[in-house]
Amino acid sequence: MNTNEVILLKYGEIVLKGLNRNYFNQLLEKNVRRALKRAPGEYELVYAQSIMFVRGKEGCDMDIAAELLKKVFGIVTVCSGIECEKDMDVICNVLREHGEELMGSAKTFKCDAKRSDKKFPLTSPQICTECGAVLLETLPYLTVDVQNPEVTVMIEIRDKTAILHGKREKGAGGIPVGCEGKAMLLLSGGIDSPVAGHMTAKRGVRLEAVYFETPPYTSEAAKEKVVALAKRLAEYAGVIRLHCISLTEVQEAIAANCEERLFTLLLRRFMVRCAQQAAIKAEASALITGESIGQVASQTMLSMVVTDQAADIPIFRPCIGLDKEEIVVRSRQIGTFDISTLPYEDCCAMFTPRHPNTHPKLESVLEEEAKLDVEGLVARAMETDHVIFC
Ligand code: ATP
Ligand code: MG
Repeated sequence: MNTNEVILLKYGEIVLKGLNRNYFNQLLEKNVRRALKRAPGEYELVYAQSIMFVRGKEGCDMDIAAELLKKVFGIVTVCSGIECEKDMDVICNVLREHGEELMGSAKTFKCDAKRSDKKFPLTSPQICTECGAVLLETLPYLTVDVQNPEVTVMIEIRDKTAILHGKREKGAGGIPVGCEGKAMLLLSGGIDSPVAGHMTAKRGVRLEAVYFETPPYTSEAAKEKVVALAKRLAEYAGVIRLHCISLTEVQEAIAANCEERLFTLLLRRFMVRCAQQAAIKAEASALITGESIGQVASQTMLSMVVTDQAADIPIFRPCIGLDKEEIVVRSRQIGTFDISTLPYEDCCAMFTPRHPNTHPKLESVLEEEAKLDVEGLVARAMETDHVIFC
């Protein structure tokens, strides 16, 4: 047989899920297949002896595939390797040819062998000794470090084939998207809400998203930016239906009738009402926002409490305890920062009161809302709802 490039996927928490394990595995498999659809060529997914690996086929690009698989929640390590005939001469040749790839930039290593085929003529220590010697001879800059190697080269002797792998890369962690129901993410063009979406999807929640626009105050370019963010999130979370809803009439009604100090809070309560309607239609059970306590004047804890009182379903805020710096680090890691910092206007930014009320009282908010046709405004906003698949 020829040698085959493979990618080994190690899963984390799902192995702990007892009786649900099959369900988790099926979801993970589905999500892995979905991720591979974005890579060129064909791939075969193999489940055998408690590991999952991807075999490259016609036209495949294993580097692109590995990058995509690093975004699949539920996988803790992604490891490139080689599958070959389980014969010591072949294995040693593979090490000569592919040793450098298996090693990455490491200078120290050790070998480890696993035999699920106990009839294989060499014992595990013998396999390690022989393979270690080949690597030292082929790559003379290497040294063995049994205690603390930079790379452990694994030689797995399996039922039909052998698999060799070395350098491991960190996977996305978390649990497979889809095993925890669905939530509606309030996705603005900022830094925080994409991070909040990513954190939620990481815990297995499927996402749908809503973006509130206020044309002509906000532009098509601002919307395109949100679409780009949703697409980036979809690389982790699967296809996202992005609802675009116009709050122009709402914003104008608030500006014309209500106390300026409460503008942002009043608008936020309208966002929550509309997002909730979209959520109920989509069978999503909660809302997600990117708020963090005290980050800006409109995000005091008391404002959030009053915002919550406009909703009947829970609002989760995964960034609640993170500093801006910490959120920025995450947004860089997940690849949303560069999109979020493109310079397009935000509907709230143009509408920000000079002196926002940071200790709002529900009664005063209700008094302001009594000046508006809340139900009518929400209903008309919902008529503008249109979905973009991201
Ligand atoms: P972000 O970076 O997520 O925009 P921010 O610090 O700019 O956050 P705000 O603009 O006060 O904060 O918004 C707080 C949260 O309200 C956002 O994280 C988002 O979940 C939601 N939100 C704000 N504006 C919009 C919008 N135009 N469309 C959808 N959701 C929004
Ligand atoms: Mg914002």
